[in-house]
Amino acid sequence: MPRLYESRKRILVTGGAGFLGSHLIDRLIGQGHEVICVDNFFTGTKRNVEHHHANPRFEVIRHDVCFPLKVEVDEIYNLACPASPPHYQHNPVYTIKTSFLGAMNMLGLAKRLKCRIFQASTSEVYGDPSIHPQVESYWGNVNPIGTRSCYDEGKRSAETLFFDYHRQHGVDIKVARIFNTYGPRMHPRDGRVVSNFITQALAGEDLTIYGDGSQTRSFCYADDLVEGFLRLMASDTAVTGPINLGNPGEFTMLELAEQVLRLTGSSSKITHKPLPADDPKQRQPDITQARVKLGWEPKVDLSEGLKSTIAYFRNLA
Ligand code: NAD
Ligand code: UDP
Ligand code: UDP
Repeated sequence: MPRLYESRKRILVTGGAGFLGSHLIDRLIGQGHEVICVDNFFTGTKRNVEHHHANPRFEVIRHDVCFPLKVEVDEIYNLACPASPPHYQHNPVYTIKTSFLGAMNMLGLAKRLKCRIFQASTSEVYGDPSIHPQVESYWGNVNPIGTRSCYDEGKRSAETLFFDYHRQHGVDIKVARIFNTYGPRMHPRDGRVVSNFITQALAGEDLTIYGDGSQTRSFCYADDLVEGFLRLMASDTAVTGPINLGNPGEFTMLELAEQVLRLTGSSSKITHKPLPADDPKQRQPDITQARVKLGWEPKVDLSEGLKSTIAYFRNLA
């Protein structure tokens, strides 16, 4: 529904053609706002937002956030950054540039416009965590020079910039630490575990478990996560984050593979491959802050979320 002009905002979403950005745009357009989607289509695709093209409240700008951007908006969501390990390791220098320079340019924009800005940070700032579950006050256990560092340290330096722009220039910031999220519109070949297992199961190929499969992750469904984004963005100015957003339900990769096999009805087998370097052994968010400050918690359980994700991938085939 288009809103009255007084309550309608013009909102910039960087990385808007990606998996999470496109779901966020669906919600913002649905709420009647105007959206400017900025993306260089490195890992995202125009197909993710094509259903909005005829809408006069929607615009796409092909732009690389490593370069300055001059637009006039009321709010900024900064999501631009490759997110899956194979994608962000494909060109690591570009990944850390995107993370740092993208944050710097969007913060410069927010400073000039005196507008609120949201940062899509990550649970990777905790590295291979030595405390479990992870709370926001934990400083992390991150290798600064490994193959995951371009992403982990890129996101950590972006958080530093956000808090320095906040303290030094009074920029109104909202930093979310996102834990593993899955759902429709994940790139089928982005190498993340949920998309890999589902596409393998549907193609009748072996499911590739890295290592012995005892490592854990906690998977949040995209719709739940986006609700968390909106609540954080609408929260009181005093709530800057960093705040964990994710689903505390924790599973081993072996359990995930078994669930995917069961829900797809596939007769694929499981095969093991070497564990990538610095692969975190366990990950689970403590979401007490999100519960208390945002009244938010995830609603969609893994089997329900996997069913709609599987249906999406079936339709792609
Ligand atoms: P994605 O790869 O689907 O989306 C990222 C988008 O950013 C893509 O559309 C890509 O083309 C765009 N992009 C990349 N570099 C850019 C640049 N230099 N300039 C402009 N656009 C650029 O990934 P996603 O899963 O949607 O992740 C979105 C954000 O959320 C990322 O910042 C990611 O780090 C963060 N995040 C995601 C997860 C998750 O599980 N999905 C977890 C933690 C954090
Ligand atoms: N910036 C931008 N759009 C704007 C304002 C700034 O992209 O509307 C960029 C600017 O080019 C700079 C960065 O944001 O590279 C940081 O801006 P800031 O004003 O903090 O720094 P300065 O320009 O003083 O170096
Ligand atoms: N993984 C796996 N098989 C795959 C892809 C990933 O076993 O085909 C494992 C990976 O080693 C990691 C977990 O699944 O332990 C989550 O990987 P993903 O790349 O999805 O996210 P991240 O490592 O960033 O949490």
